[in-house]
Amino acid sequence: MSCCICSADTARPFLEKNGYSIVRCEQCGFLYVHPRPSSEELRAFYQNPGYFQGEGAYGYDSYVAQRSEIERVANERLMTIESFISPGRLLDVGCASGYFLSVARRRGWRVEGVEIAQAMARAAEELLHQPIYSTLDAAPFPPQSFDVITLWEYIEHIPDPRADLLRVYELLKPGGLLALSTPNAGQRAVVKAPARWREFKPPEHLGFFTRQTLERLVRACGFQPVLLRAIAPHLRLPEMIEHGITLCRETLGDRHTRRTPFWWIYSLTRRMVSLPFRIVQKLIFSPFDYSQGIELYARRGVEQKRET
Ligand SMILES: [Zn+2]
Repeated sequence: MSCCICSADTARPFLEKNGYSIVRCEQCGFLYVHPRPSSEELRAFYQNPGYFQGEGAYGYDSYVAQRSEIERVANERLMTIESFISPGRLLDVGCASGYFLSVARRRGWRVEGVEIAQAMARAAEELLHQPIYSTLDAAPFPPQSFDVITLWEYIEHIPDPRADLLRVYELLKPGGLLALSTPNAGQRAVVKAPARWREFKPPEHLGFFTRQTLERLVRACGFQPVLLRAIAPHLRLPEMIEHGITLCRETLGDRHTRRTPFWWIYSLTRRMVSLPFRIVQKLIFSPFDYSQGIELYARRGVEQKRET
């Protein structure tokens, strides 16, 4: 199978990992797993309930325990989305246990979700009291159903990102918004020492994007990027400080909850701790050199383009 971004057939071996080969497209530089695992293989992989419970080498470290952090990020992302488009109908693809959708609903969105892992889809159904569909293709939505479609940490998991983005295009209303995030394969640490990057983890991750390859793909699928953002590098603070900051948020609240009149102490503390790091980053590097992830917001164009 050829490169999903530029359709070139020539790729060079890049890295061997977990018995899979990651190759680099000679034309556009896209990094992807080749040959790709079959869809049966992938389906079986995501039905392991341990995937979302931090067991084994794959998946999330106890996804449920991260709920408050996920909700904080969800509020931030929805604020960005709402700066482009007012609440309407939203689909989250790869919705896991539905935390993002429940936050969106609280903010006035009508929501739908897609999730391939059955255990997670059940949890989302219980949380939201509505059906969650297993795949984008199985979801019964007519074309132009949505104002916004979100793909948080999704596009790196799928065998054919172009096919999924074209389906997203079809499901969005003209002028609707696509929002996605993915690990940043263009950051310096990855370029210097690829073998150490933990996001190279086939068969869980199959495609590895830089801001260039990501932008090229979404444009080729008919979207116009309106915001490309480097996700702030994760600061590996000593556990005690991290714990203290979390405690601070839980007792005082943050700018979203404003649980007590002292919610701003949390925001201020977090900012002070990360300030030195941010200054160095701003002065010397592009934020994409250091960010672990890329967030992209793009409008669906009116006419569908399929350039390569
Ligand atoms: Zn390519």
